[in-house]
Amino acid sequence: MNTTNLLEFDLEGLAAFCEKLGEKRFRATQLYRWIHQRGASDFSQMTDLAKALREKLATTAHVAALPVISQQESKDGTIKWLFDVGQGDAVEAVFIPEDDRGTLCVSSQAGCAVGCRFCSTGHQGFSRNLTTGEIVAQLWFAEHFLRKHLQRDERVISNVVMMGMGEPLQNYAALVPALRTMLDDNAYGLSRRRVTVSTSGVVPMIDRLGHDCPVALAVSLHAPNDALRNDLVPLNRKYPIAELLDACQRYLAHAPRDFITFEYCMLDGVNDQPEHALQLIELVRTQGVSCKFNLIPFNPFPASGLLRSPQPRVLAFARLMSEAGIVTTVRKTRGDDIDAACGQLAGDVQDRTRAAERMAARRSPAGQPVVLHRSRPRPAATPGAMKR
Ligand code: SF4
Repeated sequence: MNTTNLLEFDLEGLAAFCEKLGEKRFRATQLYRWIHQRGASDFSQMTDLAKALREKLATTAHVAALPVISQQESKDGTIKWLFDVGQGDAVEAVFIPEDDRGTLCVSSQAGCAVGCRFCSTGHQGFSRNLTTGEIVAQLWFAEHFLRKHLQRDERVISNVVMMGMGEPLQNYAALVPALRTMLDDNAYGLSRRRVTVSTSGVVPMIDRLGHDCPVALAVSLHAPNDALRNDLVPLNRKYPIAELLDACQRYLAHAPRDFITFEYCMLDGVNDQPEHALQLIELVRTQGVSCKFNLIPFNPFPASGLLRSPQPRVLAFARLMSEAGIVTTVRKTRGDDIDAACGQLAGDVQDRTRAAERMAARRSPAGQPVVLHRSRPRPAATPGAMKR
């Protein structure tokens, strides 16, 4: 018999499920705590639930993690999991420990339809949206695995970034209940400031998120003008920079933080020149969006035809931005030895969108990558993966 995976529900959904079983809604809170706070999946362990309810649950419901295909642990403590989501699709989640926090980078889709040039997920194409349960299962598994692994009784994961595979705002219906479970005090109780949705710029959904479930927002900007961003982030043709920044401004009225984080992947000779920094400064001044910039070292992969900007150029870029009064950080790479720096996930999906063909079509007739602004000869690319 098909039974329902209770990871699919936020508290409201679980209450409705309990009502269908003829139970009072408040039973859902007890059940929700058992599942998310204590990591329980066996209803017989849930001793403060009435026996009759436990028996009903045993025949109608289950709590299921995603099968783990692989787990890799870096020298620096970063852990990357590859989860099987069926039919040949796999998604990744990464735990990044730091002195004052533990961050889990979570996937929202198997693949991605946006097709950013610098992103290995984008090059793989899109298979399907994850369900709420598949999004939550990454956190549920990681949190309770890590408590045992690190022998900790208290919470290990303090921050979640929706920065894994997929464009979370193109899977909005599944995303919002998942965010609610992350935030709920009866589940993970994460602060809205510590849950970040990262988007390539789905403008209408930024507005909806601001009303439905405001959390911290990161925007994958990557270019200071529409011509360049159209090439790097194709969604820009639909929602150009001015519209995107207007949406960011509106979002700030609801956001738990008083700034938007702009992610900017540093690509050698493409978007890393002083004139690009000056254009960004002008853009921020004109639009007046309160923001911080996060410069991300690119992990090259051959199909992209792109390379990582040299570190001195990244630092010079950051200095120009900082001197103009824009808070700018350079992201530390983590988990390099397992190819798992935050937001650099590859996974493995059945492409249902012919992304490889579309990407190839964006190359020159000679089969060479389109080069936007090359400042100097490039060394050979090294294997790797990159997103955002
Ligand atoms: S960077 Fe994000 S939005 Fe762009 S292709 Fe990759 S996963 Fe999709």
